[in-house]
Amino acid sequence: MELIDGKAVAAKVLDECRAGVEELASAGLRPGLAVVLVGEDPASRAYVRSKERTCRDLGLHSVKLELPATTSQAELLEVVGDLNADPAIHGILVQSPPPPQIDEAAIVLAIDPAKDVDGFHPQNVAKLALEDPSGFVPCTPLGCQRLLGEYGVNTRGAHAVVVGRSMIVGKPMAMLLMAKGELADATVTVAHSRTADLAAVCQRADILIAAVGRPHFLGAEHVREGAVVIDVGINRVDDPAAKRGYRLVGDVDFDAVASRCSAITPVPGGVGPMTIAMLMSNTIKACRQITSASH
Ligand code: NDP
Repeated sequence: MELIDGKAVAAKVLDECRAGVEELASAGLRPGLAVVLVGEDPASRAYVRSKERTCRDLGLHSVKLELPATTSQAELLEVVGDLNADPAIHGILVQSPPPPQIDEAAIVLAIDPAKDVDGFHPQNVAKLALEDPSGFVPCTPLGCQRLLGEYGVNTRGAHAVVVGRSMIVGKPMAMLLMAKGELADATVTVAHSRTADLAAVCQRADILIAAVGRPHFLGAEHVREGAVVIDVGINRVDDPAAKRGYRLVGDVDFDAVASRCSAITPVPGGVGPMTIAMLMSNTIKACRQITSASH
């Protein structure tokens, strides 16, 4: 069994990003990312902090806007409008989940699709479906695809089973893998909470991607001998022995399935680090596209 080292691959992606930032700098350009956080959600704060740290490390221009939990929809739309108009900003993301008074879909729609580095805007969703490379693909599935590529996993003609159909992970993952071309050309099955006999469906997977949001949900009965397993799940489970009182586990019961897999991502240290790395990569792509379009 090969352990897929997301930290190492993320470091490689970040090195590529650093080279991209230097190249843009020689043309007098600096990619800029704005992260908007509404409210006090501790997990969101931690994500935003690490995005900011990575930006700083790469030499990106980074703007963090922390808005109170009482921010209205109109106020948030105004902030997004200002960022759309700001030439120093090439990527905008509004950290999920926002407080209940915010209509998240309307906010996503308000972000300039050229700056939508999360890849959630309908124009970017359409570009993914159309296989238009100028679009932005959500960072997590993009990171999963890169992991498969780095570890030489054959996707062409392989049967990939994606468990989960969210717009953030499951659906874009399936679209990426079913597209034509390199690191794609897979036969894809998407499973969800209404899928009958999930274990039998998963057993047919050469590549099994878990994006369910339930700790240790997939076990040995879901994994075929020799399968490649990509575990997107990040779940907090209580652990009195841990310093913070909890630990992070995936959607896959790693100990139960590892010996059956040909390769598997750990949690933490698998898909997680890839998400931020791909966000940086998307921001550099946005800067390139915006600045070349304006010349
Ligand atoms: P969602 O809750 O949006 O989607 C979960 C999906 O799992 C849904 O499609 C749901 O089906 C399906 N599901 C739920 N229960 C079952 C079940 N019993 N059997 C089969 N399918 C089921 O989650 P996300 O896609 O946003 O996230 C999934 C996981 O990935 C989470 O653990 C999240 O923390 C993690 N994550 C990690 C990231 C990273 O950077 N590594 C980034 C984003 C997410 P249905 O549609 O029918 O409800």
